[in-house]
Parts: sequence; C-alpha cells; structure tokens
Amino acid sequence: MSVMQTPGADGRFGQFGGQFVPETLVPACQELERAFTEAWNDALFREELNHLLKTYAGRPSILTECHNLGRELGIRLFLKREDLNHTGSHKINNVLGQALLAKRMGKKRIVAETGAGQHGVAAATAAALLGLECKVFMGAVDIERQELNVFRMRLLGAEVVPAQSGSRTLKDAVNEAMRDWVATVESTHYCLGSVMGPHPYPYMVRQFHRVIGDEAREQCREVLGGDDPDVVVACVGGGSNAIGIFSGFIDTHARLIGVEPAGGAAVGRGVPGVVHGMKSYLMQDEEGQVQEAHSISAGLDYPGVGPEHSYLSEIGRAEYPSVTDTEVIDGFTLLARTEGIIPALECAHALAWIKRAAPEMQGQVVLMNLSGRGDKDVAQMMDILGKK
Ligand SMILES: *Cc1c(COP(=O)(O)O)cnc(C)c1O
Repeated sequence: MSVMQTPGADGRFGQFGGQFVPETLVPACQELERAFTEAWNDALFREELNHLLKTYAGRPSILTECHNLGRELGIRLFLKREDLNHTGSHKINNVLGQALLAKRMGKKRIVAETGAGQHGVAAATAAALLGLECKVFMGAVDIERQELNVFRMRLLGAEVVPAQSGSRTLKDAVNEAMRDWVATVESTHYCLGSVMGPHPYPYMVRQFHRVIGDEAREQCREVLGGDDPDVVVACVGGGSNAIGIFSGFIDTHARLIGVEPAGGAAVGRGVPGVVHGMKSYLMQDEEGQVQEAHSISAGLDYPGVGPEHSYLSEIGRAEYPSVTDTEVIDGFTLLARTEGIIPALECAHALAWIKRAAPEMQGQVVLMNLSGRGDKDVAQMMDILGKK
C-alpha cells in the first residue's frame, strides 16, 4: 500500500488537513511553513535539536520488555519509554523543536493552549530553557481542576490566562491562543501541542515526534534480530504520540492501532468536519456543533484528531478502536502490579486495548508507546479506587 507521509501542496493528507484559517492568519501559517521547512533541512538546526533532546530531555528513551505481563497475556510486549523523558512524557520532543524554531524565526514570545496542563507545563519548560516569554491559555474550568499544573507553569515563569469563552475548556483555549497569535504575530510563535490545527502544524509536530518511531524501529530490530513488531499501539488524544511512533513503522507490515477513549472517539464515531483550522474527523452533534469529549484522562479530552490519523483510518492503514473508563482503570493497575511501572492514564488506554485483544494476538510481538508516567494521576486513582 502506498501511504502519503508528507502532506501535498494543499497541506492535506488525502482529503484531511488543510488551512482553514481567517485571512489574517494565512501569512503567519505561510511564514511558519517556510521557516520549518528551512530549519528541518538545515543540518545545524537538527544538530542543535538533537543535542537538546540528548542532554536535556534524556533521549534516546529506552525499550523495555514486559516479561511478566507478556507471559500473563501470551504475547511479547515491549514498551517505548517516553515516560522517562524530562517532564514525564513525549511532549518535550515537540516543545523543544518549536521553541528552537521560534528563536530561529526571531520571536521573543510563545503562546500555547493547554487542557489538563501537560502541554502548558512542557511549553513553559522549553520557554524557560531558551529564554522566551510564555503565555498559556487554559480553560477557566480546567484551571479549577488542575491547580498543580497551573502552579507548575507559574513556577516556570509562564503567565496562565483563563479562557472564558464557550465551555471554558481546551477547545476554547485553542481559539484564544490563535486570537492572541493573530494580534501579536510579529513577536510571537504559537506553540501548538498536538498534530492538529492548520497546516503546517500537523506535519511539523509529527516530524518533531518521529524520533520516537525512528528510535523504536532501530531498538526493535536490534532485539528481534532484524524483525519489526507485529502490532504497534498508542493512545490517541490529538494524536501526537501515536503518529510519532507510527511514523517509524508505516512502511512495515506492523498493524497500527490508535486507541481512543469511548467518550472521545473522534475517528471511531466522528464525522469529517472543520475545527481549529483543519478538516478531520470530529465529534459533532446533530446540528454540526463540536461536542465535548469526556474521558477519565483529561489529556485525551479533545473532540477532534489530527488529520493524518483521519487519513490513515480512511485508507485502512491504521485502526482506531476505543476503550471504556473501566477498562482503562484495569490497564493502569495491571501495569503497576505486574511490571512496577505506573503509567499515565492516557497510555492506560493502550494497555486496556492490548489486554482485550491479547487472545487474538497470541505469540505476537506488540510494541506500545508508554507516552507518559502516572505520577500526575495517582491522586485521581486514589479517589476512584479508595485508599485501601
Ligand atoms: C498529552 C498526552 C497525551 C495525548 O496527546 P497526543 O497528542 O494524543 O499524544 C497522551 N499521553 C500523555 C502522557 C500525554 O501527556
């Protein structure tokens, strides 16, 4: 199967993606596209980024074989350990790339959106490191729910601004960050947190995360005597950690599985629509209004999904099943108990699917992206499971 891995001149993967933005933002998107293309082809930029990934983020992240859980499920299970990166997830790959790019473009300031606060913390981290001003838009409702991350961002020197429009959650924070960007584009870069938004964001963010897949492919070939895994699994919110690991395996025989929360199954249950500057699968109500996503994991509460995932689903290259909150809780405790690793609730979605699908994968090699560590979710799990 021939699979498009770079968007066409129209910024689309198949029918998905594009640049659905107000006229005032078109020049900013074009400037960003030019700057990214130049930087990505510049050996010096890539060297500088790789140096930061190695000496600051802690890359390469290791590959861990789960012998206990693998035995229990009848599969060989490997984890790509993005939880071991600085700030505890894959998000650092993208923010270091974008912050370096912002500096190269001569910008002094970044703005970012955040839902649960994880991308906001990562963006504030990169801004502190590289001496950029940072303003993070966060839904007023999310600010109430995530006070620890709000405090973290402030510790890191960022300003956190409540988004007061609409439902006062992530999708409103994206809108307000875009509004700020339009008004301040001379001095400001918009550091978007996932593989979504107008072109070139979905492609650019994917390229910053493809290090996950490139490393994992090498590491797998080393332990599997030159072979690739049979199945590659990751959780999907906006889709950045999933596309990062998929990008190393699109041209192999591996099945690609992106696991969505049942309450936010954009690919599984959505319809094509336009939001946040892109065309992609979206959760919409009967009137075409974007619906709120609900998941036990605040990090997966995004009603849409990156356009490349919509494309991979449409051409049948990747599959997008969903799992329930109950299965997720089970996946979370399962990895902790069998392997001594407490996963982020987001990646517990991938574990939940692996456990459910294991009877049909007996003897196969399964690679899962462990996108983040679970420390941030322990208090919530204590409330759910009780203190006993
Ligand atoms: C933010 C986050 C996600 C969801 O974002 P994607 O863009 O879908 O990867 C998943 N896992 C962790 C640990 C996160 O912090």
